[in-house]
Amino acid sequence: MSDLFDCMLIQWPDEQSAFNAAINENPANAGPSQGGRRKRSLVNYSKLWANGRSLKIAFMDTPPAEHKQKIIDAACRWLPYINLKFEFVDGIQGDIRISTNTGENSSMLGTDALLIHPDWPTMSLGVKPDHEDFEVIVTHEFGHALGAMHEHQHPKANIPWDKPKVYEFYRNREMNPINSEQVDWNLFTPFDTLEAIYTDYDRKSIMHHPVSNDLTLGNWENKINREISKKDKTLMRLLYPK
Ligand SMILES: [Zn+2]
Repeated sequence: MSDLFDCMLIQWPDEQSAFNAAINENPANAGPSQGGRRKRSLVNYSKLWANGRSLKIAFMDTPPAEHKQKIIDAACRWLPYINLKFEFVDGIQGDIRISTNTGENSSMLGTDALLIHPDWPTMSLGVKPDHEDFEVIVTHEFGHALGAMHEHQHPKANIPWDKPKVYEFYRNREMNPINSEQVDWNLFTPFDTLEAIYTDYDRKSIMHHPVSNDLTLGNWENKINREISKKDKTLMRLLYPK
């Protein structure tokens, strides 16, 4: 069974604090408040950084130069499509703080990073530089750090998951097993943010996990997407307009 891609998107558990941090950073995160079909609410807000700002990205555990450069190169794949600047630094002080020692791949979603204790990482990049999809995984995690959700959780995705099988697979796998609740959050629960309104579901998105045919009903699978898709570019341009 394929388990090519191991990523946990982490959101701050307290919605009120997450909402406050998001709105404080970028008031547009509340979404259109009048005349639209959206209301300001705790449910469907976004977690985008203030447009035009510079993000300080810290390497907390100073990986070897070549490893570090590969991370920087993968992160910078987003830059042509956003109105943000990246400033990479060594040390523990950054808006985004990377650890490469944790053995997992995960990121806080956008401004949720602001709520993490300043001594702790907001992004884990356990993937090794010799992994064939190192660049893809790092780019994907930076997509989350910019505020992008998992595309397989787009409200129009309608993936025919074989849910009992998915729970079993993730509970029993050797590396980083996760429980049913974590599976729900990371695979099944649809999102309702600006993304869902701006763009349609896109199976080619780099934010879409590969989906094994073994974990779906009928004949449905999605191969790993290695490129930033056309829709990914469109979305980022809408979220961070120049
Ligand atoms: Zn992910």
